[in-house]
Amino acid sequence: MDGKSYIEPMTQSNAQNTGRSMVDALRHPRWPSLCEVCRRWGAGRICGDCIARFTTAHPRCARCGLRTGQPLAQCGECLRSPPPFRATHCAVDYGFPWDQLIVQFKYHNQVELGYSLSRLMLRARFEIGFSADGPLPHTLLPVPLSLDRLAARGYNQAWELAQRLGAARQVPARADVLLRVLSTPAQADLTRSERLRNLRAAFMVAPAQRSWLAGREVTLVDDVMTTGATAHEAAKTLMRAGAAAVDLWVLARTPHNSA
Ligand SMILES: [Zn+2]
Ligand SMILES: [Zn+2]
Repeated sequence: MDGKSYIEPMTQSNAQNTGRSMVDALRHPRWPSLCEVCRRWGAGRICGDCIARFTTAHPRCARCGLRTGQPLAQCGECLRSPPPFRATHCAVDYGFPWDQLIVQFKYHNQVELGYSLSRLMLRARFEIGFSADGPLPHTLLPVPLSLDRLAARGYNQAWELAQRLGAARQVPARADVLLRVLSTPAQADLTRSERLRNLRAAFMVAPAQRSWLAGREVTLVDDVMTTGATAHEAAKTLMRAGAAAVDLWVLARTPHNSA
């Protein structure tokens, strides 16, 4: 599989053609760099060989994104307990090598990895996989961070992805609609039900945006979907505020729901 077109670094001319800023073009110059995965020299932070090798499309439940034996509209869990979101698009499973890159992206200030990781999401959605012919996403809403976490990290990784995805497909991205009003403790060691309890009332729709949201279909963007508890609560908040439908677009999905 040829990943070259996908990782072609931005140049001044194609930056203008796609409406990207020169800042983005300068962040992704033509000169070669080390691949973050195989450490060989190539074009871009993730080389075409590694992308082809580690982005196999797996059949998934179209609703929650879990891997299934064959593509399903809904898995048994979604049938038993329908989630508040309509569809989930995930690029990769959360595992080697993407888990390490996501940690760098999220916790080690490697915000520029957002460019390569957003390309993975675009490629999975529009070039390979089982939903490649699907419609364009609706307005992109990043899953928000609480203000204290945003202040500590300096950026919201979901917003970094959403902006790049939106620019690549001429879809608006907005960070002013869904807000996180409650700071929740780190979720890593919690079960799904504990996460859900933690997240209750964590999100709200900005009062000034309620009329905009009413009757509208939107797409939530996040970097990782683990148990789905965060996506569940965020989507529920949007639906309660009057959204017509919520879809999810995530970079990486853990292969199995934990308890
Ligand atoms: Zn590589
Ligand atoms: Zn499902």
